[in-house]
Amino acid sequence: VNRQNQNILLLLKSILASFQAAASQKGVEISLSIDNEDIPCYTLYSFDRIKMKQVITNILKNALEATEKGNCIHIACKAEDPSNLLITISNNGNPIPEDILPTIFTPFVTYKANGTGLGLAISSNIITAHGGTLTVTSKREETSFLISLPL
Ligand code: ADP
Ligand code: MG
Repeated sequence: VNRQNQNILLLLKSILASFQAAASQKGVEISLSIDNEDIPCYTLYSFDRIKMKQVITNILKNALEATEKGNCIHIACKAEDPSNLLITISNNGNPIPEDILPTIFTPFVTYKANGTGLGLAISSNIITAHGGTLTVTSKREETSFLISLPL
């Protein structure tokens, strides 16, 4: 990974903006909440901008594909504690069945007609290379991908 001090909030905002047209065309609302905009770690976090953009875009793309008209996607960013940054991307929709949940990070595993099954596998590798973890929870009507990054 090619780490440089970056502003993670600006990156999230610019990715969100790039999804806005497709989301509103589909009737899906995307919102972003930031726990405290003034925390310096948001603006001075060292990560690979191109790779991190790829991760967030992959997860957001999956979320938009899984979300039906009238439902919403929520992105949250917070410094859980001084040593950890947590980015959560959640969407309403049918939960991922429990038996397929452990398979979705495996390369080439897709449940879509024209899927590649590579988005989450690549994303997981990128987050691991940053020393973090990418996990998923899916229950009732909500699926959440959690990106946890050491600061
Ligand atoms: P692809 O999108 O090409 O299928 P991914 O690696 O991005 O490959 O995702 C793997 C699988 O994980 C998808 O086929 C889908 O079944 C499941 N998945 C990922 N994100 C979501 C989501 N937000 N809601 C429901 N299922 C999801
Ligand atoms: Mg995908």
